[in-house]
Parts: sequence; structure tokens; C-alpha cells
Amino acid sequence: MSEKFDVIVIGAGPAGYVAAIRAAQLGLKTACVDAFVGKDGKQALGGTCLNVGCIPSKALLDSSKQFYNLSHNLPAHGISVENAKVDLGTFIGRKDKIVKQFTGGIGQLFKANKVTAFFGKGKLLKGNNVEITGNDGSKQTISATNVILASGSVPIELPFAKFDNKYILDNAGALDINEVPKRLGVIGAGVIGLELGSVWRRLGSEVTVLEALPDFLGVADADIAKIALKEFTKLGLDIKLGAKLSKAEIKNNTVALTYEDKDGKHELTVDKLLVAVGRRAYTDGLLADDTGVKVDERGRIVVDEHNHTGVDGVWAIGDAVRGPMLAHKGSEEGVAVAEWIAGKAGHVNLDTVPWVIYTEPEIAWAGKTEKQLKDEGVPYKVGTFPFAAIGRAVAMNEAIGQVKVIAHAETDRLLGVHMVGPGVSELIAEAVVAMEFKGSAEDLARIVHAHPTLSEAVHEAALSVDKRAIHKGN
Ligand code: FAD
Ligand code: AMP
Repeated sequence: MSEKFDVIVIGAGPAGYVAAIRAAQLGLKTACVDAFVGKDGKQALGGTCLNVGCIPSKALLDSSKQFYNLSHNLPAHGISVENAKVDLGTFIGRKDKIVKQFTGGIGQLFKANKVTAFFGKGKLLKGNNVEITGNDGSKQTISATNVILASGSVPIELPFAKFDNKYILDNAGALDINEVPKRLGVIGAGVIGLELGSVWRRLGSEVTVLEALPDFLGVADADIAKIALKEFTKLGLDIKLGAKLSKAEIKNNTVALTYEDKDGKHELTVDKLLVAVGRRAYTDGLLADDTGVKVDERGRIVVDEHNHTGVDGVWAIGDAVRGPMLAHKGSEEGVAVAEWIAGKAGHVNLDTVPWVIYTEPEIAWAGKTEKQLKDEGVPYKVGTFPFAAIGRAVAMNEAIGQVKVIAHAETDRLLGVHMVGPGVSELIAEAVVAMEFKGSAEDLARIVHAHPTLSEAVHEAALSVDKRAIHKGN
């Protein structure tokens, strides 16, 4: 007889491992099946985010920022360092150590919470049985009352630029380059392309970013995207908009690119190419034909507002389902599903999921953009405040960007908060709390903010909504 659990989670990324831990906390007998193989060839929990996504990219972004600051920020403070060099072995090694610490940490959390981890590829069979195929081909079947599908996503591959992770890189390849490429091509000016492009630019690569769409960072508020584009250009990222890659050929240790824009065809030669044109939900081999679980036209598992697939006891969360492909969104779905299974009141509000892009300057937002509100015909008012007028930002020599608060024109309810500037990845949390509590611009404006801090920009932008910012003309 197959071993029986209350809950089996397939996938141990931030959606799946969090779901498994919460289910176990609630007293449910829980298993988590994951197939990810780490750099050392062993099982590595944590999925894309911990192994080849959020955590390693932030480690490299931070290291490269330290290096870049030596020549671009410290001189303004009267500090000079000569002959600064990057030891790439240590640079990448530090990242690998951080990854190991965190992926190992999930294993410890599983033990502490009595989650049983299985290593192998899980396949949902009819009747909530899960077949696990180990790396050696061995098979076993376990079963559960509830199965949570958390199989995540994988990078989209262009048919004419296939990943070899030597010349044509996906996210994992771009986190493991062993020599700073003289010329790096990046396809796609989305979050991943901009973050990883920034890492290598700061270490000295000539980085050209080709983006097929005519507008830069269309998901962000247009004012914020405009400021960001100006700053990224100053950093030296050569961002070509309306430029669509049509061919990539590996020739003489280089990659020869052909792209098209409004002026016709162009050629460009780079030493490495990062293809970051988006990610797709990963469900390959996940579902037996007769499970009844549906996938949509984009390959995402279809779920209702409670992440239920419509098949008794089968749920799905994270990148594998609709909504933004963000780690914290998947984790919150994981918690909510575990709570729903345990008969509790789970809660996820997709309207207040914060977005962060960890470039320099950072970009962060929650809620709607001005364009979305215009399209929806919602009346709104806007307040902005520049970091140039924030004492702390000037003291840090990082007085770039602004905070923009959008509130309903009649009710003053917060509809969107958008930021570009220093430390905004942390500042956005205040806006999310206010929005989750259905707060108004007036609420943010009446909260005492410590002086001198970057958070004063949020306060002043909220004041500015009703034209009463103190430290700028209204
Ligand atoms: P995943 O993390 O993809 O995990 C799914 C897991 O399931 C994997 O381990 C996979 O091997 C396993 N699996 C799949 N199918 C099976 C199967 N049949 N059997 C067994 N195991 C299976 N998000 C942020 O919020 N912040 C960031 O800063 C950020 N940075 C990123 C940087 C990069 C370079 C990338 C690529 C992504 C980044 N993301 C970031 C996105 C984030 O990584 C994803 O949103 C998140 O990992 C999704 O979590 P998940 O649990 O749904 O899926
Ligand atoms: P994201 O989905 O945020 O990771 O962003 C991926 C970006 O890649 C999108 O803005 C796409 O427009 C862009 N993109 C997709 N295909 C191509 C291509 N062939 N050439 C250039 N950009 C592309």
C-alpha cells in the first residue's frame, strides 16, 4: 500500500515549501516532492527563487553594487580606492554559499516541522495519488487527501536562440559566468534582464539590451519607468526599444545577433547573450491525462479565487497559476491553501502584491498605475515627492528618483503607490500595509515619519496629493 498523507505538495519553491510548512504547522501529515538538482548534484530545496532566482541575483546585485560604488559613489564622499579589482571566484562563490545556506535551511525547517521530503519528479495521478520518479528511474507512489501543485516556472526559450549556458544564457547561466564578458547582449528589458544586465554592467561589461516593445517597462507606472530609463542609461546600459531579436548564431566564440527595429535589420556581436524574454508555467510531466486538472492557453494551471483546480482535493499555487510571477505571491497562496485545507480562513489579496525591481535605483510599486486607472475611468489625484529634497538621500549621495502616491479623487482611498529611488524595496512595505488596511492618502500624511529618513518621501508624496507637501512647491 502506498504511504498516505493529508497533504502532498509537488514543488519546493517559495510557494510549495511554505505551503508544506504551514500545512504541517496546522497538524496535517505533509510530504513535499521536488526534483531540483543543485550545483553539487544533490537535491536542493527552495526552487527557482532560492537556487537560481531571487536570492542569488540579489547576492550578485549587492556585490556588484559595492564594486560600482567604489568608483561612482565613494569619490563624492572624499574616499578613493585605487586599483580596485573583482575576484570573480569569490564573487560567485559568495553567492553559491548564500544559496547553500538558504536551500539547506529549508531542509532543516522541513525536519523541524516534520515535513517528509521526497527527491524526484512528481506526477499527479487520478484519485490524488502522486507517482515519484527518482533520478535513477526508480518509481514509488504516495497518496493524500489533498495535493498542492507548486511546480513553478521555467525561462521561455526562443527557437532561434536556444540556451546552451555557455554563450546563450538563461537566468541560471547568467548567475554563473566565470569571466566578465566584454560585450553582453540581453534580450528583454523585463525585471530579470534589467537586474542581471545591471550586475555585469557594474563589473565592466558593455551591455546592450534589446526590447521588442516600444515602451520601456510597460508594467510600471510611466513616470517611474521614464526616470528609471534615464538612470539606467547613465549606468551605461544601452537599451534599444522596439528592437526585436530574430537570429542568434554562435560564431568564433561570439554570438552574432540580428535584430529588427523601425529602421530595418541590424547586426550586433556579443560575447555572451542572456535571453530573458519571460517565463512560462512549468507543468511538463506533472499531470496524468485523466486527472481532470485544466491548463489555460498559456500553460498555467486553472484555479479559482481559492487556488482550487475544481478537482476534489487538488490545489495549485505560485508561478504555475495566474497572477504575478513573484515569490511572495506564491508563498502567500501557499499559506492560504494550507489554511483552507485545515478549515481555516486563508487570505490572499492579489491587488496589493508589491513589485520590486532591484536595480540601481530600485523600483517598487503596489496597486494601480495612472494608465490603468485612466483606462478604467477611475477618478484619481496624484502627489509626488523627489528624493532630491530628502535630507537622508542627499547625505547618502543617492538623491535620485521619486515617490508617487495615487488616491481616489473623491474618497482619497490609496489606489497605487509607485517609487523609484534609494531603498524603495523596503519603503514599499508601508504603502502595502496602508493599502491592505484600505487606507487613504490622508492616513499616510498623518502618520509620523522619522527624520531624517527615506520614508519622509512617502509622507511628503502623500501630503502632496492634496497640495500640502512642506518641502517643495505645490
Ligand atoms: P519555483 O520557485 O519555480 O519552484 C518550483 C519547484 O518545483 C522547482 O524546484 C522545480 O524543480 C520543482 N518541480 C517542478 N515540477 C516538478 C515535478 N513534477 N516534480 C517535482 N518537482 C517539480 N521573485 C521575487 O518575488 N523577488 C525577486 O527578487 C525575484 N528575483 C528573481 C530573479 C530571477 C533571476 C528569477 C529567474 C526569478 C526571480 N523571481 C523573483 C521570481 C521567483 O523566483 C518566482 O516567482 C518563484 O520562484 C516562484 O515560486 P514557485 O514556488 O511557484 O516556483
Ligand atoms: P518579462 O516578461 O518581464 O521577463 O520581460 C520579457 C521582455 O522580453 C518583454 O518585455 C518582451 O517584450 C521582451 N521580448 C520578448 N521576445 C523578444 C525578442 N525576440 N526580442 C526582444 N525582446 C523580446
